[in-house]
Amino acid sequence: MSKPVSICVIGSGYVGLVAAVCFAEIGHHVICVDNDEAKVKTLREGGVPIYEDCLPELLAKHLDRGVEFTSDLASAVERSEAIFIAVGTPQGETGAADLSYVEAVVSEIARHISSYKVIVEKSTVPVYTNEWISRVLHRHGVDTQSFDVVSNPEFLREGTAVIDFLHPDRIVVGANSERAAEVLRRIYAPLTTGVYYEQPRSLAGSCTAAQPARLLVTSAQSAEIIKHASNAFLALKISFINAVANLAESVDADIEDIAEGMGLDTRIGPKFLRAGLGYGGSCFPKDVAAFHWVAHQQGVNFKLLQEIRKINETQRDIFYNKVLAALWTLRGKRLAALGLAFKGDTDDIRDSPGIEVIKKLIEAGAMVTAYDPAAMERTKAVLPPSDKMRYAGDAYEAAKDADAVLILTDWKQFGKLDLVRLNQAVRFPIVIDGRNLYKPQTMHEHGFTYVSVGRPASYHAQQGKPRGMAL
Ligand code: NAD
Repeated sequence: MSKPVSICVIGSGYVGLVAAVCFAEIGHHVICVDNDEAKVKTLREGGVPIYEDCLPELLAKHLDRGVEFTSDLASAVERSEAIFIAVGTPQGETGAADLSYVEAVVSEIARHISSYKVIVEKSTVPVYTNEWISRVLHRHGVDTQSFDVVSNPEFLREGTAVIDFLHPDRIVVGANSERAAEVLRRIYAPLTTGVYYEQPRSLAGSCTAAQPARLLVTSAQSAEIIKHASNAFLALKISFINAVANLAESVDADIEDIAEGMGLDTRIGPKFLRAGLGYGGSCFPKDVAAFHWVAHQQGVNFKLLQEIRKINETQRDIFYNKVLAALWTLRGKRLAALGLAFKGDTDDIRDSPGIEVIKKLIEAGAMVTAYDPAAMERTKAVLPPSDKMRYAGDAYEAAKDADAVLILTDWKQFGKLDLVRLNQAVRFPIVIDGRNLYKPQTMHEHGFTYVSVGRPASYHAQQGKPRGMAL
């Protein structure tokens, strides 16, 4: 592959760790820095602190060869040509992104710049962060010739992060300097020339040597906005289909048919048209809020972004009301909760819609037994085991003697349950599916009352449709 670049990645979370290991995979020398000593120790010993497909194998392949872990930022900066900042940018009280972690890292970098460095914002940040980083470096006495700041937003999805990184739809580089853009082009060259995909041990995905990854160079401001606008647009698609689902439900139409009919239009596309409990996670909620804040600061009317958020929040309430409508009262009811992660294939529970719903159900007096293939340990930190909140070893154990089963996360395995076994486990055969993982007809044939999103509910013969409350 092309000449390796010495890279420092600051932050070893979902983005930083994946980026660091993938940069090693495409032939670079990487030092990954984190100020969480326990995390660094785990990583040095070959442990992976997050649940992410392909990551353990790739880390084992490159640990102490292409990638090393440290908490010593000073020496990592001194030894690197490009410094990627991948620390968190959580939502602040006003809705704006809290950039204090970024600023802290930049101030520290400033103290250790002794030769030309390209500083890359990989974290999701509002427009003009690039300028602010330059300003902070100047304030700390770093001269203009010694650095450039580049925006290189990350578009990976948790659960498929490694493949997304190595087979990106696009790589965006926002650079106001050609010298810096060139360093980024060198870093991504194995993906953009297709050399990586020709290697016998490369990980397979959508890119090939004949159709390699595309790299788009823009101004720093444009790159910053591309990231916020992309996430806001995906969130918009989810909220849009959820609003349509609510309409579909009220006229006995089927949102799955509607989404298919819409998604077959190539101008619309089928992705992110899945009705359900709405979006969550560490990105969409905060990025929609931060983007709205940016627009507001610039005096631009972008109230659409507020509506996206409102529809998303309402979706959780609508689901809660479906549970209530199906069970009449909640005090003392035993509920099986399938799924805790904010989506399938990850252990990330940040702003998980399912956990929000569980909290509300517990407040109303229900007893919840939850199962999630990957997110139970993290959930125990926010919902410790108690007489109201239990954790099970599998979906059937969670469903044992339950008054109703709730599907909260779209893990594939929850869509392939043994329905005969599930029916035998529960006290009453009621499934309230917040992710539309089953066909109503299938559930009906297996003797369930089945309530989902944007589709007519089907009722168990002996239970009938509850009157007085909309499902
Ligand atoms: P994370 O919370 O998982 O990881 C952040 C890491 O940075 C932590 O390990 C933390 O210990 C470390 N850190 C914080 N301050 C530090 C410091 N001063 N020095 C060294 N390390 C420090 O966050 P994440 O999910 O990886 O997200 C990082 C950024 O990437 C955010 O801006 C996010 O919006 C963006 N992003 C996330 C995703 C995603 O799917 N998670 C996707 C695209 C973009």
